[in-house]
Amino acid sequence: MLRVAIDGPGGTGKSTIAKAAAERLGLEYIDTGAMYRSIALKSIRNGVDAENEPEVVKMLEGTTIDFNDNRVYLDGEDVSGLIRTNEISMTASTISKLGPVRAKLDEVSRHIASVKNVVMEGRDIGTAVIPDAEVKIFMTADPNVRAKRRYEQLLAQGKPADICRIREEIEKRDYQDSHREINPLKQADDAIFMDTTEMSIEENIEAVCEAIESSGRA
Ligand code: C5P
Repeated sequence: MLRVAIDGPGGTGKSTIAKAAAERLGLEYIDTGAMYRSIALKSIRNGVDAENEPEVVKMLEGTTIDFNDNRVYLDGEDVSGLIRTNEISMTASTISKLGPVRAKLDEVSRHIASVKNVVMEGRDIGTAVIPDAEVKIFMTADPNVRAKRRYEQLLAQGKPADICRIREEIEKRDYQDSHREINPLKQADDAIFMDTTEMSIEENIEAVCEAIESSGRA
């Protein structure tokens, strides 16, 4: 059994790194943020207020979230291409404060981690979802660098981008994610701390693979 938990704020390069490390070591990559984003998408589509717990609970009934081949499925529909917008990022952060949402997605995540060797990435994987993970990494980077990375990513995709606005949204989401009552974003006591501010993607992948291999489980 090998379960790797990677946590940290948005825009640190976690997803890129976790995915590449998982591929290199033959592990399944699971992006739990995509699950929160899918629930946020459903709430926007259905006109459900992300802060209204009873309405969200009703919406969750019969909602299914699945992963297959790095794609996320909401009620059977592949929504992977629809969930990477600013609106969805902020709504995901808001809806993720609700206990019933976290309980449902924790259950889905734990089930996957019980049947597969995974690199699972999110905000509370090492602290709450798999507290007994074999390897735990907490990744962070300077908020200015995170904003710049996101800005360049959007430009490369030919999308409009405003670096000041991106920086503001990063700060707001960091604050919401680390100050919520249930399972806030924080480093697990036994996690390896990685500041990626000065690291290239390749160096970062190497560092993560090394941490996993030195656990003796890979
Ligand atoms: O990682 P990503 O930016 O896709 O996550 C979107 C949002 O989902 C986060 O801002 C956070 O509020 C929420 N999330 C969470 N717990 C996780 C993963 C994501 O609360 N394990």
